Amino acid sequence: MSILIKGGKVVGPSGAHHADVLVDGEKVAALFDPSYDEDVHADQVIVATGKYVIPGGIDAHTHMELPFGGTAASDTFDTGTRAAAWGGTTTIIDFAVQRTGEVVQDGLAEWHRKADGNCHIDYAFHMILGGVDDDALKAMDQLVHDEGVTSFKLFMAYPGVFYSDDGQVLRAMQTARENGAMVMMHAENGIAIDVLVQQALARGETDPIHHGLTRPEALEAEATHRAIRLAEVAKDCPLYIVHLSASQALEEVAAARDAGRNVFAETCPQYLYLTLEDQLGAPGFEGAKWVCSTPLRSKHENHQRDLWKGLRNNDLAIVSTDHCPFCMKDQKELGLGDFSKIPNGIGGVEHRVDLVYQGVVDGKISLERWVETIATTPARMFGLYPRKGIVAPGSDADIVVYDPAGRTRIGVQSHHMNMDYSAYEGFEIAGKVDTVVSRGEVIVADGNYHGRKGRGQFLERGLSSYLL
Ligand SMILES: [Zn+2]
Repeated sequence: MSILIKGGKVVGPSGAHHADVLVDGEKVAALFDPSYDEDVHADQVIVATGKYVIPGGIDAHTHMELPFGGTAASDTFDTGTRAAAWGGTTTIIDFAVQRTGEVVQDGLAEWHRKADGNCHIDYAFHMILGGVDDDALKAMDQLVHDEGVTSFKLFMAYPGVFYSDDGQVLRAMQTARENGAMVMMHAENGIAIDVLVQQALARGETDPIHHGLTRPEALEAEATHRAIRLAEVAKDCPLYIVHLSASQALEEVAAARDAGRNVFAETCPQYLYLTLEDQLGAPGFEGAKWVCSTPLRSKHENHQRDLWKGLRNNDLAIVSTDHCPFCMKDQKELGLGDFSKIPNGIGGVEHRVDLVYQGVVDGKISLERWVETIATTPARMFGLYPRKGIVAPGSDADIVVYDPAGRTRIGVQSHHMNMDYSAYEGFEIAGKVDTVVSRGEVIVADGNYHGRKGRGQFLERGLSSYLL
Protein backbone atom coordinates (compact mmCIF):
# COMPACT_ATOMS: atom_id res chain seq x y z
CA MET A 1 0.00 0.00 0.00
CA SER A 2 1.40 3.40 -0.99
CA ILE A 3 0.05 6.87 -0.34
CA LEU A 4 1.01 10.17 -1.96
CA ILE A 5 0.27 13.26 0.14
CA LYS A 6 0.18 16.00 -2.47
CA GLY A 7 0.33 19.77 -2.43
CA GLY A 8 0.91 20.38 1.27
CA LYS A 9 3.52 22.29 3.20
CA VAL A 10 5.75 19.94 5.19
CA VAL A 11 6.65 21.44 8.56
CA GLY A 12 9.59 20.28 10.65
CA PRO A 13 11.64 21.88 13.42
CA SER A 14 14.06 23.42 10.93
CA GLY A 15 11.52 24.96 8.60
CA ALA A 16 8.53 24.56 6.33
CA HIS A 17 8.58 23.84 2.60
CA HIS A 18 6.22 22.65 -0.10
CA ALA A 19 6.79 18.97 -0.77
CA ASP A 20 4.84 15.89 -1.71
CA VAL A 21 5.27 12.92 0.59
CA LEU A 22 5.34 9.34 -0.64
CA VAL A 23 4.47 6.68 1.91
CA ASP A 24 5.32 3.09 1.13
CA GLY A 25 4.04 0.49 3.55
CA GLU A 26 4.63 1.73 7.09
CA LYS A 27 7.44 4.15 6.22
CA VAL A 28 7.98 7.47 4.54
CA ALA A 29 9.73 6.61 1.26
CA ALA A 30 10.49 10.03 -0.18
CA LEU A 31 9.77 13.75 -0.21
CA PHE A 32 9.46 15.32 -3.67
CA ASP A 33 9.65 18.83 -4.97
CA PRO A 34 6.04 19.17 -6.24
CA SER A 35 7.22 19.78 -9.80
CA TYR A 36 8.95 16.37 -9.99
CA ASP A 37 6.28 13.93 -8.99
CA GLU A 38 4.29 13.68 -12.25
CA ASP A 39 5.39 10.10 -12.69
CA VAL A 40 4.92 9.02 -9.09
CA HIS A 41 2.07 6.57 -8.75
CA ALA A 42 0.48 5.62 -5.48
CA ASP A 43 -2.46 3.47 -4.45
CA GLN A 44 -4.03 6.43 -2.71
CA VAL A 45 -3.63 10.21 -3.12
CA ILE A 46 -4.37 12.62 -0.28
CA VAL A 47 -4.74 16.20 -1.48
CA ALA A 48 -3.19 18.53 1.09
CA THR A 49 -3.27 21.80 -0.82
CA GLY A 50 -3.31 24.72 1.60
CA LYS A 51 -2.62 22.43 4.53
CA TYR A 52 0.32 21.56 6.77
CA VAL A 53 1.89 18.12 6.71
CA ILE A 54 3.44 17.42 10.08
CA PRO A 55 4.78 14.43 12.02
CA GLY A 56 2.15 12.71 14.15
CA GLY A 57 1.96 14.10 17.64
CA ILE A 58 3.81 12.37 20.49
CA ASP A 59 2.25 12.80 23.91
CA ALA A 60 5.05 11.98 26.32
CA HIS A 61 2.88 12.05 29.46
CA THR A 62 -0.34 10.06 29.77
CA HIS A 63 -1.97 7.96 32.50
CA MET A 64 -4.46 5.55 30.96
CA GLU A 65 -6.32 3.45 33.57
CA LEU A 66 -4.17 4.84 36.38
CA PRO A 67 -5.46 3.80 39.81
CA PHE A 68 -5.60 6.95 41.95
CA GLY A 69 -7.43 7.96 45.10
CA GLY A 70 -9.73 4.94 45.25
CA THR A 71 -10.71 5.03 41.60
CA ALA A 72 -8.95 4.84 38.22
CA ALA A 73 -8.43 7.21 35.30
CA SER A 74 -11.52 6.85 33.13
CA ASP A 75 -9.80 6.32 29.77
CA THR A 76 -8.61 2.82 29.02
CA PHE A 77 -5.78 2.25 26.56
CA ASP A 78 -8.55 1.59 24.04
CA THR A 79 -10.61 4.76 24.53
CA GLY A 80 -7.64 6.98 25.33
CA THR A 81 -5.51 6.09 22.34
CA ARG A 82 -8.53 6.35 20.05
CA ALA A 83 -9.20 9.87 21.33
CA ALA A 84 -5.52 10.69 20.90
CA ALA A 85 -5.68 9.56 17.27
CA TRP A 86 -8.69 11.79 16.62
CA GLY A 87 -6.61 14.71 17.84
CA GLY A 88 -3.53 14.03 15.70
CA THR A 89 -1.43 12.18 18.26
CA THR A 90 0.03 8.92 16.92
CA THR A 91 2.27 7.93 19.84
CA ILE A 92 1.81 8.09 23.59
CA ILE A 93 4.32 7.40 26.33
CA ASP A 94 2.35 6.21 29.33
CA PHE A 95 3.58 5.66 32.88
CA ALA A 96 3.82 2.13 34.20
CA VAL A 97 3.69 2.12 37.99
CA GLN A 98 5.69 0.46 40.73
CA ARG A 99 3.93 1.11 44.03
CA THR A 100 5.83 1.11 47.30
CA GLY A 101 6.64 -2.48 48.27
CA GLU A 102 6.03 -3.90 44.78
CA VAL A 103 8.53 -5.35 42.32
CA VAL A 104 9.34 -2.93 39.49
CA GLN A 105 9.09 -5.59 36.78
CA ASP A 106 5.65 -6.64 38.07
CA GLY A 107 4.41 -3.10 37.59
CA LEU A 108 5.77 -3.01 34.07
CA ALA A 109 4.16 -6.37 33.28
CA GLU A 110 0.84 -5.09 34.59
CA TRP A 111 0.98 -2.10 32.22
CA HIS A 112 1.85 -4.36 29.29
CA ARG A 113 -1.23 -6.43 30.12
CA LYS A 114 -3.43 -3.33 30.16
CA ALA A 115 -2.09 -1.96 26.87
CA ASP A 116 -1.37 -5.09 24.83
CA GLY A 117 -3.94 -5.56 22.09
CA ASN A 118 -5.89 -2.44 23.09
CA CYS A 119 -4.02 0.51 21.59
CA HIS A 120 -5.06 2.32 18.41
CA ILE A 121 -1.67 4.04 18.06
CA ASP A 122 1.90 3.18 19.01
CA TYR A 123 2.87 3.41 22.65
CA ALA A 124 5.83 3.25 24.98
CA PHE A 125 6.31 3.34 28.73
CA HIS A 126 8.13 5.38 31.31
CA MET A 127 8.42 3.70 34.71
CA ILE A 128 7.20 5.31 37.93
CA LEU A 129 9.34 4.28 40.89
CA GLY A 130 7.28 4.41 44.06
CA GLY A 131 9.84 2.65 46.20
CA VAL A 132 13.52 3.22 45.46
CA ASP A 133 15.58 0.46 47.12
CA ASP A 134 18.39 -1.89 46.06
CA ASP A 135 16.05 -4.08 44.00
CA ALA A 136 14.48 -1.09 42.27
CA LEU A 137 17.91 0.29 41.37
CA LYS A 138 18.86 -3.06 39.80
CA ALA A 139 15.55 -3.08 37.98
CA MET A 140 16.37 0.30 36.45
CA ASP A 141 19.38 -1.25 34.72
CA GLN A 142 17.32 -4.19 33.52
CA LEU A 143 14.57 -2.00 32.09
CA VAL A 144 17.08 0.19 30.24
CA HIS A 145 19.02 -2.75 28.82
CA ASP A 146 16.24 -5.26 28.07
CA GLU A 147 12.82 -3.64 28.12
CA GLY A 148 13.12 -0.44 26.10
CA VAL A 149 12.11 1.62 29.12
CA THR A 150 14.71 4.36 29.50
CA SER A 151 13.09 6.97 31.75
CA PHE A 152 12.02 6.84 35.38
CA LYS A 153 9.64 9.13 37.20
CA LEU A 154 10.06 10.00 40.84
CA PHE A 155 7.75 11.97 43.10
CA MET A 156 8.75 14.62 45.62
CA ALA A 157 4.99 14.82 46.35
CA TYR A 158 2.35 12.36 47.62
CA PRO A 159 3.99 11.09 50.86
CA GLY A 160 2.89 7.55 51.58
CA VAL A 161 1.87 6.89 47.98
CA PHE A 162 4.63 7.58 45.44
CA TYR A 163 6.94 9.81 47.49
CA SER A 164 10.73 9.43 47.38
CA ASP A 165 12.89 11.18 49.96
CA ASP A 166 16.02 13.06 48.89
CA GLY A 167 18.26 10.07 49.55
CA GLN A 168 16.12 7.85 47.34
CA VAL A 169 16.05 10.53 44.66
CA LEU A 170 19.82 10.83 44.74
CA ARG A 171 20.39 7.08 44.51
CA ALA A 172 18.04 6.76 41.53
CA MET A 173 19.79 9.68 39.86
CA GLN A 174 23.21 8.12 40.42
CA THR A 175 21.97 4.90 38.85
CA ALA A 176 20.47 6.77 35.90
CA ARG A 177 23.73 8.67 35.43
CA GLU A 178 25.46 5.29 35.04
CA ASN A 179 22.96 3.54 32.75
CA GLY A 180 22.04 6.56 30.62
CA ALA A 181 18.40 6.87 31.64
CA MET A 182 16.44 10.07 32.12
CA VAL A 183 15.03 10.92 35.54
CA MET A 184 11.62 12.60 35.37
CA MET A 185 10.49 14.52 38.42
CA HIS A 186 7.16 15.48 39.89
CA ALA A 187 8.62 18.51 41.64
CA GLU A 188 6.43 19.67 44.51
CA ASN A 189 7.37 19.61 48.18
CA GLY A 190 4.74 17.08 49.26
CA ILE A 191 5.67 17.06 52.95
CA ALA A 192 5.03 20.80 53.27
CA ILE A 193 1.92 20.59 51.07
CA ASP A 194 0.39 17.96 53.34
CA VAL A 195 0.79 20.33 56.32
CA LEU A 196 -0.96 23.12 54.42
CA VAL A 197 -3.75 20.75 53.37
CA GLN A 198 -4.40 19.61 56.95
CA GLN A 199 -4.41 23.22 58.17
CA ALA A 200 -6.86 24.27 55.44
CA LEU A 201 -9.23 21.39 56.18
CA ALA A 202 -9.06 22.21 59.92
CA ARG A 203 -10.21 25.75 59.07
CA GLY A 204 -13.15 24.30 57.13
CA GLU A 205 -11.73 25.25 53.74
CA THR A 206 -13.00 22.32 51.69
CA ASP A 207 -13.77 23.73 48.21
CA PRO A 208 -11.74 22.71 45.17
CA ILE A 209 -9.89 26.04 44.98
CA HIS A 210 -8.07 25.11 48.19
CA HIS A 211 -6.37 22.33 46.26
CA GLY A 212 -4.52 25.10 44.41
CA LEU A 213 -4.04 27.39 47.40
CA THR A 214 -2.38 24.62 49.42
CA ARG A 215 0.12 23.92 46.63
CA PRO A 216 1.79 27.35 46.32
CA GLU A 217 4.25 28.00 43.53
CA ALA A 218 7.08 28.41 46.06
CA LEU A 219 6.77 24.69 46.85
CA GLU A 220 6.98 23.81 43.16
CA ALA A 221 9.99 26.11 42.73
CA GLU A 222 11.68 24.74 45.86
CA ALA A 223 11.32 21.13 44.75
CA THR A 224 12.43 21.99 41.23
CA HIS A 225 15.52 23.67 42.65
CA ARG A 226 16.23 20.71 44.93
CA ALA A 227 15.84 18.22 42.09
CA ILE A 228 18.22 20.22 39.93
CA ARG A 229 20.85 20.39 42.68
CA LEU A 230 20.50 16.67 43.45
CA ALA A 231 20.99 15.91 39.73
CA GLU A 232 24.10 18.07 39.87
CA VAL A 233 25.41 16.02 42.81
CA ALA A 234 24.66 12.90 40.74
CA LYS A 235 27.24 14.18 38.25
CA ASP A 236 24.74 15.86 35.91
CA CYS A 237 22.18 13.10 35.68
CA PRO A 238 19.72 14.09 32.92
CA LEU A 239 16.64 15.57 34.56
CA TYR A 240 13.21 16.27 33.10
CA ILE A 241 10.70 18.25 35.14
CA VAL A 242 7.13 17.15 34.36
CA HIS A 243 4.04 19.39 34.23
CA LEU A 244 5.80 22.63 35.11
CA SER A 245 3.21 25.31 35.89
CA ALA A 246 4.83 28.18 37.85
CA SER A 247 7.08 31.02 36.72
CA GLN A 248 9.36 30.53 39.73
CA ALA A 249 9.93 26.88 38.81
CA LEU A 250 10.62 27.88 35.22
CA GLU A 251 13.27 30.31 36.50
CA GLU A 252 15.03 27.41 38.21
CA VAL A 253 15.03 25.37 35.00
CA ALA A 254 16.20 28.36 32.95
CA ALA A 255 19.09 29.02 35.34
CA ALA A 256 20.22 25.39 35.14
CA ARG A 257 19.99 25.44 31.36
CA ASP A 258 21.93 28.72 31.21
CA ALA A 259 24.63 26.93 33.21
CA GLY A 260 24.79 24.22 30.54
CA ARG A 261 23.10 21.48 32.51
CA ASN A 262 21.07 18.57 31.14
CA VAL A 263 17.87 19.91 32.68
CA PHE A 264 14.65 19.93 30.68
CA ALA A 265 10.99 20.60 31.32
CA GLU A 266 7.54 20.19 29.89
CA THR A 267 4.37 22.13 30.45
CA CYS A 268 0.78 21.16 29.61
CA PRO A 269 -2.09 22.91 27.81
CA GLN A 270 -4.02 23.37 31.05
CA TYR A 271 -1.28 25.65 32.38
CA LEU A 272 -1.17 27.62 29.14
CA TYR A 273 -4.91 28.35 29.05
CA LEU A 274 -6.65 27.76 32.39
CA THR A 275 -6.35 29.57 35.72
CA LEU A 276 -6.83 29.16 39.46
CA GLU A 277 -9.56 31.80 39.58
CA ASP A 278 -11.54 31.10 36.41
CA GLN A 279 -11.57 27.30 36.49
CA LEU A 280 -10.41 25.85 39.83
CA GLY A 281 -12.27 28.65 41.62
CA ALA A 282 -15.55 28.02 39.79
CA PRO A 283 -18.62 28.14 42.08
CA GLY A 284 -19.55 25.19 44.28
CA PHE A 285 -17.94 21.89 43.39
CA GLU A 286 -17.52 22.79 39.70
CA GLY A 287 -13.82 23.56 40.23
CA ALA A 288 -13.18 19.84 40.84
CA LYS A 289 -13.05 19.44 37.08
CA TRP A 290 -9.71 21.22 37.11
CA VAL A 291 -8.07 19.63 40.14
CA CYS A 292 -4.66 18.47 38.96
CA SER A 293 -1.12 18.58 40.34
CA THR A 294 0.75 20.79 39.89
CA PRO A 295 -2.29 23.07 40.17
CA LEU A 296 -3.57 25.76 37.84
CA ARG A 297 -1.91 29.07 38.72
CA SER A 298 -3.28 32.56 39.39
CA LYS A 299 -4.21 34.77 36.46
CA HIS A 300 -3.03 37.76 38.49
CA GLU A 301 0.57 36.65 38.07
CA ASN A 302 2.33 36.15 34.75
CA HIS A 303 2.62 32.37 34.61
CA GLN A 304 1.00 31.89 31.21
CA ARG A 305 3.01 34.67 29.61
CA ASP A 306 6.20 33.14 31.05
CA LEU A 307 5.31 29.59 29.97
CA TRP A 308 4.75 30.70 26.36
CA LYS A 309 8.07 32.54 26.51
CA GLY A 310 9.68 29.34 27.85
CA LEU A 311 8.25 27.46 24.88
CA ARG A 312 9.69 30.05 22.49
CA ASN A 313 13.20 29.93 23.93
CA ASN A 314 13.26 26.16 24.70
CA ASP A 315 13.51 26.46 28.48
CA LEU A 316 10.32 24.44 28.04
CA ALA A 317 11.09 21.70 25.54
CA ILE A 318 7.81 19.83 25.26
CA VAL A 319 4.07 20.19 25.67
CA SER A 320 2.51 16.98 27.06
CA THR A 321 -0.98 16.58 28.44
CA ASP A 322 -0.54 14.67 31.71
CA HIS A 323 -3.79 13.10 30.47
CA CYS A 324 -5.40 11.63 33.59
CA PRO A 325 -9.17 11.93 33.16
CA PHE A 326 -11.79 11.39 35.82
CA CYS A 327 -15.52 11.85 35.37
CA MET A 328 -17.37 14.22 37.67
CA LYS A 329 -19.95 11.56 38.48
CA ASP A 330 -18.71 8.99 41.00
CA GLN A 331 -15.07 10.00 40.54
CA LYS A 332 -14.38 13.72 41.14
CA GLU A 333 -17.42 13.53 43.45
CA LEU A 334 -15.33 11.45 45.87
CA GLY A 335 -14.00 14.82 47.02
CA LEU A 336 -17.34 16.49 47.79
CA GLY A 337 -16.78 18.30 51.07
CA ASP A 338 -13.02 17.57 51.08
CA PHE A 339 -10.86 18.87 48.22
CA SER A 340 -8.00 16.56 49.25
CA LYS A 341 -10.09 13.55 48.20
CA ILE A 342 -10.74 14.79 44.65
CA PRO A 343 -8.86 12.54 42.20
CA ASN A 344 -6.05 14.60 40.66
CA GLY A 345 -6.10 14.88 36.91
CA ILE A 346 -7.35 16.51 33.73
CA GLY A 347 -8.05 14.81 30.41
CA GLY A 348 -6.71 16.41 27.28
CA VAL A 349 -4.93 13.85 25.11
CA GLU A 350 -7.29 14.67 22.23
CA HIS A 351 -6.68 18.42 22.22
CA ARG A 352 -2.95 19.04 22.64
CA VAL A 353 -2.08 19.40 18.95
CA ASP A 354 -4.91 21.92 18.47
CA LEU A 355 -4.32 23.87 21.68
CA VAL A 356 -0.63 24.35 20.94
CA TYR A 357 -1.44 25.27 17.33
CA GLN A 358 -3.64 28.05 18.70
CA GLY A 359 -0.40 29.51 20.07
CA VAL A 360 0.85 29.79 16.48
CA VAL A 361 -2.36 31.55 15.45
CA ASP A 362 -2.02 33.91 18.42
CA GLY A 363 1.59 34.77 17.50
CA LYS A 364 3.06 33.19 20.64
CA ILE A 365 5.21 30.51 18.98
CA SER A 366 6.31 29.73 15.42
CA LEU A 367 4.96 26.97 13.22
CA GLU A 368 8.29 25.18 13.65
CA ARG A 369 8.16 25.37 17.44
CA TRP A 370 4.64 23.91 17.32
CA VAL A 371 5.93 20.81 15.55
CA GLU A 372 9.04 20.66 17.69
CA THR A 373 7.24 20.86 21.05
CA ILE A 374 4.47 18.37 20.18
CA ALA A 375 6.41 15.80 18.14
CA THR A 376 10.09 16.18 17.31
CA THR A 377 11.50 16.97 20.73
CA PRO A 378 9.45 14.29 22.53
CA ALA A 379 10.91 11.78 20.04
CA ARG A 380 14.46 12.99 20.60
CA MET A 381 14.08 13.43 24.37
CA PHE A 382 12.79 9.91 24.90
CA GLY A 383 14.75 7.79 22.45
CA LEU A 384 12.25 7.44 19.58
CA TYR A 385 14.00 9.62 16.98
CA PRO A 386 14.26 9.39 13.97
CA ARG A 387 11.73 6.58 13.81
CA LYS A 388 9.17 9.03 15.17
CA GLY A 389 8.90 12.82 15.33
CA ILE A 390 9.76 13.83 11.77
CA VAL A 391 8.45 13.44 8.23
CA ALA A 392 11.59 12.14 6.52
CA PRO A 393 12.57 9.13 4.39
CA GLY A 394 12.95 6.04 6.57
CA SER A 395 10.81 7.35 9.40
CA ASP A 396 7.53 5.75 10.36
CA ALA A 397 4.69 7.20 8.28
CA ASP A 398 3.01 8.88 11.27
CA ILE A 399 1.67 11.98 9.57
CA VAL A 400 -1.01 14.56 10.28
CA VAL A 401 -2.49 16.75 7.57
CA TYR A 402 -3.53 19.88 9.46
CA ASP A 403 -5.94 22.42 8.02
CA PRO A 404 -5.25 26.01 9.13
CA ALA A 405 -8.53 27.09 7.51
CA GLY A 406 -10.57 24.60 9.54
CA ARG A 407 -12.04 25.17 12.97
CA THR A 408 -12.25 22.90 15.99
CA ARG A 409 -14.82 23.42 18.71
CA ILE A 410 -13.94 21.54 21.86
CA GLY A 411 -16.65 20.12 24.08
CA VAL A 412 -18.06 17.07 25.80
CA GLN A 413 -20.59 16.50 22.99
CA SER A 414 -17.92 16.08 20.34
CA HIS A 415 -14.87 14.73 22.15
CA HIS A 416 -13.93 11.06 22.12
CA MET A 417 -12.33 10.77 25.55
CA ASN A 418 -14.23 8.79 28.18
CA MET A 419 -15.08 11.85 30.28
CA ASP A 420 -18.44 13.34 31.22
CA TYR A 421 -17.15 16.91 30.90
CA SER A 422 -14.50 18.79 28.95
CA ALA A 423 -11.83 20.86 30.68
CA TYR A 424 -11.88 23.10 27.59
CA GLU A 425 -15.64 23.30 27.00
CA GLY A 426 -16.45 25.89 24.34
CA PHE A 427 -12.87 26.53 23.23
CA GLU A 428 -12.64 27.35 19.51
CA ILE A 429 -9.38 26.53 17.75
CA ALA A 430 -8.52 28.25 14.46
CA GLY A 431 -7.27 25.02 12.87
CA LYS A 432 -8.30 21.41 12.47
CA VAL A 433 -6.86 17.93 12.27
CA ASP A 434 -7.79 16.85 8.74
CA THR A 435 -6.19 13.45 8.14
CA VAL A 436 -4.17 11.18 10.43
CA VAL A 437 -1.83 8.48 9.13
CA SER A 438 -0.33 6.01 11.60
CA ARG A 439 2.45 3.74 10.30
CA GLY A 440 1.15 4.11 6.77
CA GLU A 441 -2.49 3.53 7.60
CA VAL A 442 -5.10 6.28 7.29
CA ILE A 443 -6.92 6.19 10.63
CA VAL A 444 -8.76 9.53 10.53
CA ALA A 445 -10.09 11.14 7.33
CA ASP A 446 -13.09 13.23 6.32
CA GLY A 447 -14.37 13.29 9.87
CA ASN A 448 -14.47 9.50 10.06
CA TYR A 449 -12.49 7.05 12.11
CA HIS A 450 -10.81 4.13 10.34
CA GLY A 451 -8.45 2.88 13.05
CA ARG A 452 -9.00 -0.10 15.28
CA LYS A 453 -7.90 -1.23 18.67
CA GLY A 454 -4.88 -3.51 18.73
CA ARG A 455 -3.12 -1.98 15.71
CA GLY A 456 -0.86 0.12 17.96
CA GLN A 457 2.52 -1.42 18.73
CA PHE A 458 4.74 -1.22 21.80
CA LEU A 459 7.88 0.82 21.08
CA GLU A 460 11.14 -0.10 22.75
CA ARG A 461 12.91 3.17 23.29
CA GLY A 462 16.61 3.97 23.14
CA LEU A 463 18.43 6.52 25.27
CA SER A 464 17.73 10.21 24.89
CA SER A 465 19.39 11.84 21.90
CA TYR A 466 18.71 15.31 23.27
CA LEU A 467 21.52 15.57 25.82
CA LEU A 468 24.43 17.98 25.77
ZN1 LIG B 1 1.40 12.70 35.42
